[in-house]
Amino acid sequence: MLSPSLEDYLEEIYRFSLHNDVVRVSDIATCLDVTMPSVNNAIRKLSSEDYLVYKKYRELVLTDKGRRLGKFLVERNSILQEFLKVIYSNCDIKAEAEAMEHYLTMPSIRSIESLVDFFEKNSACRQKFLEHYRHRSEQGLGLVNGYRE
Ligand code: CA
Repeated sequence: MLSPSLEDYLEEIYRFSLHNDVVRVSDIATCLDVTMPSVNNAIRKLSSEDYLVYKKYRELVLTDKGRRLGKFLVERNSILQEFLKVIYSNCDIKAEAEAMEHYLTMPSIRSIESLVDFFEKNSACRQKFLEHYRHRSEQGLGLVNGYRE
């Protein structure tokens, strides 16, 4: 298993590679808003574990292993973003999915994926859930934020 930070690097490299022919260290530094030394560090680790290879001009090429894991990481992130939309979470969806993705187990993610798929295929259920959600919000029901004064 990769660390959350290395997962994020690999995820971003894969995502970038979907829309660009060439991926460079500097592209990933920009995407993730991190310094070049941090990217270099991560790239070294990913390459030592056979997820990618360095080419000339600081070009990064994913191995089959890297592509397979990268695809999984990108899909996992998008399932969680879809989930947050489906449940009408009023959060920063991107940031929340980022926070969740590294800590949920595969069984939970598979269940979440099924739930998202279920709501996509059963729009009447989704509508019912939305009404229920709105009703509860209007009634002020549910968890009370203990951090709020
Ligand atoms: Ca991520």
